[in-house]
Formats: sequence, structure tokens, C-alpha cells
Amino acid sequence: MKKILVTGGAGFLGSHLCDRLTAQGHRVIALDSFFTGNRRNVQQLLGHPNFEVIEHDVVDPIHIDGLDEIYNLACPASPVHYQHDPVHTMKTSVLGALNMLELARKSNAKIFQASTSEVYGDPIVHPQPEGYWGHVNPIGIRSCYDEGKRAAETLFFDYHRQHKLRIRVVRIFNTYGPRMAADDGRVVSNFIVQALQGKDLTVYGEGSQTRSFCYADDLVEGFIRLMNADDAVTGPVNIGNPGEFTMLELAERVLRLTGSQSKLIHFPLPEDDPKQRRPDISKAKELLGWVPTVALEEGLARTIAYFKTVL
Ligand code: NAD
Ligand code: UDP
Repeated sequence: MKKILVTGGAGFLGSHLCDRLTAQGHRVIALDSFFTGNRRNVQQLLGHPNFEVIEHDVVDPIHIDGLDEIYNLACPASPVHYQHDPVHTMKTSVLGALNMLELARKSNAKIFQASTSEVYGDPIVHPQPEGYWGHVNPIGIRSCYDEGKRAAETLFFDYHRQHKLRIRVVRIFNTYGPRMAADDGRVVSNFIVQALQGKDLTVYGEGSQTRSFCYADDLVEGFIRLMNADDAVTGPVNIGNPGEFTMLELAERVLRLTGSQSKLIHFPLPEDDPKQRRPDISKAKELLGWVPTVALEEGLARTIAYFKTVL
């Protein structure tokens, strides 16, 4: 039994990770500021003898005794939320990483960073392998998130080289599933909620931009395999589903699967919105034996079923 800290543990992905780690018999502490997360996401674990929630902002240092592992997920992930207070987003990524790395160093814990495909920016290389350095605007409206996550990766590798810390860095591509917040603003949750409520589906730009959507359970499996891999496997490792879809294709699938009569309505494309995104997952396959198993149709059907219970 390990003692494991999950920052952002009451968020969408963090709560699924807490479920899996608790089920494996570990003692799990979810640390969260509840900025975008919610106690409802972990209500199934409240009262479990090996589960605890701490309300805390990772921008401030914290000490917790005897940790074996830290998964650092704390950070708003949706553009609407990370652009709400961009300075705090940057602090969350940079000071949050620093505080968690110091905590790991003091406890000699292994530490995992939830990085992102956004480190590739609006990519010119397609699909994106980990060796690609990216094409990121350092001063745009997405930069607080992209550059914050890039700086966090730098800190992880410097702690690894300078302090011999055992690190794992995953670059997450767009992930969806039950427990996404209905008002999160991400495309999958927006389209599903709009379709179920009979509202127009809001397509930004012409809808020809692409994304690759990974189902949450597949992602969490990748996280755990990476954390448990040999210490030589520091990452960064891309985890995502290489199936690539335009936003118009996604809208069409959501309409079909919900049976909704909603129409599409176009809004301007946000500044610096990446035109294409698709992971090269050769490293995840080779080093972790990981491949995604849930196809978009199946994952969307499960996510739609979830939203029907909460709307
Ligand atoms: P989420 O918004 O549901 O979860 C983030 C959690 O972190 C929330 O519970 C929030 O309250 C908490 N949090 C935010 N700022 C905090 C702070 N300063 N201190 C403590 N807690 C704080 O988003 P998610 O989709 O679950 O994302 C989890 C992680 O995965 C994030 O680091 C995100 O950048 C990364 N990621 C997610 C995706 C995706 O598609 N879902 C893609 C790439 C990277
Ligand atoms: N998008 C859209 N309609 C929405 C929300 C998003 O067309 O209601 C587009 C957005 O412009 C982007 C893509 O969908 O091109 C994915 O957006 P999301 O915010 O989910 O993720 P990210 O842009 O961070 O990959």
C-alpha cells in the first residue's frame, strides 16, 4: 500500500485517477482548491478509510509526511477557465510544480506531471512526436497555460538532473468522459450539453480544425502504467487517441448519438486556436505497452449517458 497525493484530485481526470488508485488499495489524498473541481466528483470515495480530501491551493507550499508518489494534476484545463485569471493559471503551473517538486524531494517520492499537447502549440509537425519542440505564441491568450506547462516540464527535468528526483511527465491530448463539468466550455461537453438541451451547437470558425479525443479510462490506464514504469522512463510520453476528427465531424456524431434536432451555429475562431492536433503514440506503445481501447462512438455514448443523469 502506497501513500499517494493527487493534486487536482476533485477535477475531471483527478477524480477518475483517485477511483483507480483507491481501488488498487492505496491510501489516496486528493488535494484541490475547488476552482474547477467539485466534491461531487469524489463523493463515491468520501468516507472511504483510505481516502481523504485536503482543500489547498498548490500556489502555496504544503507539507505532508510519508508520501510515496505525487500525481500533479492541479490546473484548470479548459480555455474558458484558464483564461479567467491567467496570472493565477501561470502561478498554478509554475509555483504549483515547484511546491510539489520540493514536497517530493523532502519525502523522496516519485512525482508525475500532467503536461499537455498544448506544449506543441499550433503545431507545424503533424502528428506530434515528443521530440517536436512546438510552435507556441509566448504572449497570446493561451500562453498562460501553454507556457506555464512548458515551464513546469523544465522544472521537472531540472529537479531530475539536479536533485536526482524520480519524475514522470505525460503529455495529455484532449480527453473526455463522465464528470466533465457541464459548464467547462470544452468542445465535447459543450456539444453534448447543447444537443441534449435542444440548443444550437456552437462551432468555432468553420469547424475544419481537428482534435484527437481520448476516453478518460484509457488515459488513466496510461498514467498508471507510466508511474509504474522503470525509473529510466521519465517521459515526456504522449498519451492520447490518434483518431483525428474535425469539429464538424464531432458535431455530426453528437447529433446522431443523441438523436437531437439541434442545428449548428458558427462563432469566430478564438485567437491562436490550434488548427490540427494528433498524437504520435509510438513511445507509449513501445515503453508502456499502452494503446487506447475506447473508440470515439463508444466513449461519446458513455459520456452522453452520464450527462443525461446530471442535466
Ligand atoms: P479539471 O479542471 O476538471 O481539473 C483540474 C483540477 O485542479 C480541478 O479540480 C481544480 O479545482 C484543481 N485546481 C486548479 N487550480 C488549482 C490550484 N491552484 N490548486 C489546487 N487545485 C487546483 O481539468 P482536467 O481535465 O481534469 O485536467 C487535469 C489535468 O490534466 C490538468 O493539469 C490539465 O492541464 C491536464 N490536461 C487535461 C487535458 C484534458 O483534455 N482533459 C488535456 C491536457 C492536459
Ligand atoms: N470548439 C468549438 N465549439 C465549442 C468549444 C470549442 O468549436 O463550443 C472548438 C475550439 O475552437 C477548438 C476545439 O473545439 O478548436 C477544441 O476545443 P477545446 O476547448 O475542447 O480544447 P482545446 O482547444 O484546448 O484543444
